[in-house]
Amino acid sequence: MLATFFLCCAMLSATATDNQQPQGTPPPVRLLLFAQTTPRSITISSSSPVTVTTAIDPPQKTERKRLPRTEIRAERDGRMLRVGTTNAASVVITGERIILQSEGRKRVVAGIVTITQQGKQLRVVATIAQQQYLSTALASESASGEPFQYLIALSVLQRNYLQTHRNRHQPDADLCDNTHCQRADNTSPSKTVQRAVAAAAKIQLTDTTTDGTAYPCYYSANCGGSTLTPKQVWGSSEAGYSAVACDFCRQGKWNRWQRATAATPQVEQLVRQAPPAPFLSDDFKIAMGRMVGFNVVLSNTVENIERREGKFWFSGRGFGHRVGLCCAGGMTLAKRGRAAAEILRTYFPDASVGVAEVK
Ligand SMILES: [Zn+2]
Ligand SMILES: [Zn+2]
Repeated sequence: MLATFFLCCAMLSATATDNQQPQGTPPPVRLLLFAQTTPRSITISSSSPVTVTTAIDPPQKTERKRLPRTEIRAERDGRMLRVGTTNAASVVITGERIILQSEGRKRVVAGIVTITQQGKQLRVVATIAQQQYLSTALASESASGEPFQYLIALSVLQRNYLQTHRNRHQPDADLCDNTHCQRADNTSPSKTVQRAVAAAAKIQLTDTTTDGTAYPCYYSANCGGSTLTPKQVWGSSEAGYSAVACDFCRQGKWNRWQRATAATPQVEQLVRQAPPAPFLSDDFKIAMGRMVGFNVVLSNTVENIERREGKFWFSGRGFGHRVGLCCAGGMTLAKRGRAAAEILRTYFPDASVGVAEVK
């Protein structure tokens, strides 16, 4: 089957009409920050003046000022948060460089930061431009020195992920900054990353066989020799995916792997509940990860389990869920001179997948 290609100008204008957004101004992203730790306190500051609105049940006070280092803390009663020495129901800060720190983690936001208390924890949501989100996500999911055309292809998928997963943290946020969604915690995207995001804006990866328009979006570090479909891994069909044979990740360190962990009674019980190897199970990978860490069973594909020397030895293929773009393979193709659109066509070859480019 041949891939279908569209002229990008037609597709971009169609997208703009669908979203009721003027062309060139995609909707902002509401990003839940510090999602990994659900913080009880953060320190917030700014080097230039910001607008701070503090709501105190319900009167509001708005000031424009340089924000000194200010601790915002969740109060134990779960109703009010504490800003410095005063109580408040919520705080909204708007500025070009708002610095937030919590438990050794740092975030820098250009946009709006909204802080409320939820239960005993703070809920910190940044409202930022799509470009800022995509640059942060690409910098977080890549390493320096990775080939430029591969970065462009990855950014297309990350934008598609944003488009198709905005409902994950409703009602007040779209996505989080942790691996539950896509990691988006790198506060200093390089110029290369920003150029890759700009170049990715010219490429559309879609599947139009469904009644609406589907946007394939998954990527995985190493497919272990062939990619899988969402149906194979999660049991639910999604448009735009195929199982693709991939020989381009063979040299990658996770193509084949073997790891061991102590044969504790808990691990033994999980192994007993697993299907006989070889097997494909996302549930097993996740259950093992939660029990002994995610660096033992690296993917959903376990080919052999052996017990010796008081340990379980697991061997398998690939890293992650193995669905969509194989990142190790995509890097190999980019190093061999393939353009981002060609890389995407390789891993999303179904006839209904369209990749469009503006030259
Ligand atoms: Zn999330
Ligand atoms: Zn691969």
